[in-house]
Order: sequence, then C-alpha cells, then structure tokens
Amino acid sequence: MPKQIDIAKIQSALDDIASRMAGESDRGEVASYIPELSRVPLNQFGIAVAPLNGPPIFAGDADVPFSIQSISKVFALVVALGHVGATLWRRVGREPSGDPFNSIVQLEFERGKPRNPFINPGAIVVSDVILEHESGEFGRHPVLELCRRLADAPDISVDEEVFASEVKTGDRNRALAYFMLAEGNIKGEVKKVTESYFRQCSIAMTCRQLAEATRFLASGGEGPDAEIAGVTPERTRRINALMMTCGCYDASGEVAFRIGLPCKSGVGGGVVAIAPSVGSIVAWSPGLDEKGNSVLALKAIEELAHGLGWSVF
Ligand code: GLU
Repeated sequence: MPKQIDIAKIQSALDDIASRMAGESDRGEVASYIPELSRVPLNQFGIAVAPLNGPPIFAGDADVPFSIQSISKVFALVVALGHVGATLWRRVGREPSGDPFNSIVQLEFERGKPRNPFINPGAIVVSDVILEHESGEFGRHPVLELCRRLADAPDISVDEEVFASEVKTGDRNRALAYFMLAEGNIKGEVKKVTESYFRQCSIAMTCRQLAEATRFLASGGEGPDAEIAGVTPERTRRINALMMTCGCYDASGEVAFRIGLPCKSGVGGGVVAIAPSVGSIVAWSPGLDEKGNSVLALKAIEELAHGLGWSVF
C-alpha cells in the first residue's frame, strides 16, 4: 500500500536542498577516466522524487541528462533475473565486496565468481546472461528498452561519445571478462559482452526520468511499474537488499549508516534511493568522493530522508 505523502512538503524540502547545494563549495571531483565525463560542469545539482501515486516532484537541474553508469546495473539485473530467475546466483554472489568496483584481486581469489551484480565483474556476467537470451543488437539494448518503458520516455538514448570512450579505455573490464571466460563464467564473446555492458553504462537520463524508471522498486512488487519490470514482491525485496548492501561500491555500509535506504550510485554522479511504499529519489551532481559516489547527491538524499523520516529502519 502506498503511504500518504505531502507533496507541498516534499516540494519545499527539494527547493530548500537545491538552493543550499547550489552554494556548496565542497563538491568532490568529476570522474576523470574518460574525457566525456571529465568535461561535465561540476556546478550542477538536480533532485527528483517519483512518488508511487502522483507525478514527479523535482528541483534544480532535474531535467539535465547525465550518464547513468553503474546505476544501469540495477536495470540489467532486473532483465537477467527475468530470463534466468534465481539460477543467476550460481554465477554471481550476493555479498558486499569491500573492494573497489573494478578490483581484479578478489575475482582471482574467488575463482571467477563475482561477489555481487553491482561490481563490474558481476555486471559483466549479467550482460553475458542477457546476451545468451537476447541478440543485443545495437539500438535495441534490453536495458535501454526497459528504461524507456519504465520512465515512459522513448527518447532516452545512449550517449554515443561516452560509449566510444568506454570501449576505447575499457581494458580493465575486458581483463575481468577474459579472466571469467578462463574460469568458465563467461559464455559469450568478450568483445560483445563488454560492449553490451559499456552501452548500458552510457545511457543518459535525467533525475526525473531515472526516478520514474526506478519507482517500481518502491512498490513492493505490485502495480503497473512492477508489471513492466516483471518483478514479484520477493524479487523486489531482494533487489532492494542488494542495493542496500552493495549499491555504493566499497562505501555501501557507510551509505546504509548515513541514509538508511537502498541506494545505487554511478560515477556519472547520480544516486538512486528507494523509500519503500513512498517512491524513488534520484539526486545528481557530477563531483565524486574518493569511493566514486557523488558528494552532493549523497548529502542531499541524506538530508531529505532524515527530514521526512524515510528510512527502512
Ligand atoms: N563504465 C564504468 C566502468 O565500468 C562504470 C563505473 C561505475 O559507474 O561504477 O568502469
């Protein structure tokens, strides 16, 4: 059952947060591993809430598209679970990694079975699973299609420049994939699998669109959004549990402590947080902390969640 919410109160909280974030001087640093991300102006901040019943509420740069990067791993997980269900967990674990998202050391130690679907090797296995079931023809990427349907926004697209750069600089991800191929945990061609993964990372969305596209995770697995995503109540709970424990790189424990909601972040500066039975919150600001999480997006979600008493605890 959706909880009753006070739209005017949320709007005023978002306006207040957006105006304070505009004056923040400690904004972190923009991701620098590809030029396309390093050129994104640091002074931007947007926030949106997509309540379960009602239109999105937003403030700041909530309509500026940004690279969703690792946040795409949530949608990819939904697609892969739709194809293979719980058998996915034979190939990907469900433990926080405590290591950076692209660590190779842990993968070798654990014989090619990634700790969880939200670190890069886990997401690459998820891409492999998706490709085993769908052709992955460019232009019809299943993750892109799902984002478009959930946000009801057919114009959502892949940023081709970001994609080209990801491919060019993606040796570490290819190395992870080759290692897993050697261990028998990748079945397809490394080039195809990693390009499919890079493509989903390069999807560009606004805070408003992303909040609408992730709202299904607040619905308890019921209603029209959950139907589009093809998730049951149980699957919804489990995806939220993974976001809570593994969604913010090796700072996931710290984020759970500070915010108390399932979250997923990406190096484009976006953070999604799920307030069950209420809706989805997305904040974006391109400056990152040393763990790769947006400084202002986390701060804003923390303030909003505390101010409105949204926590799963
Ligand atoms: N495209 C990035 C990579 O795979 C994603 C990083 C992220 O957002 O965690 O390196």
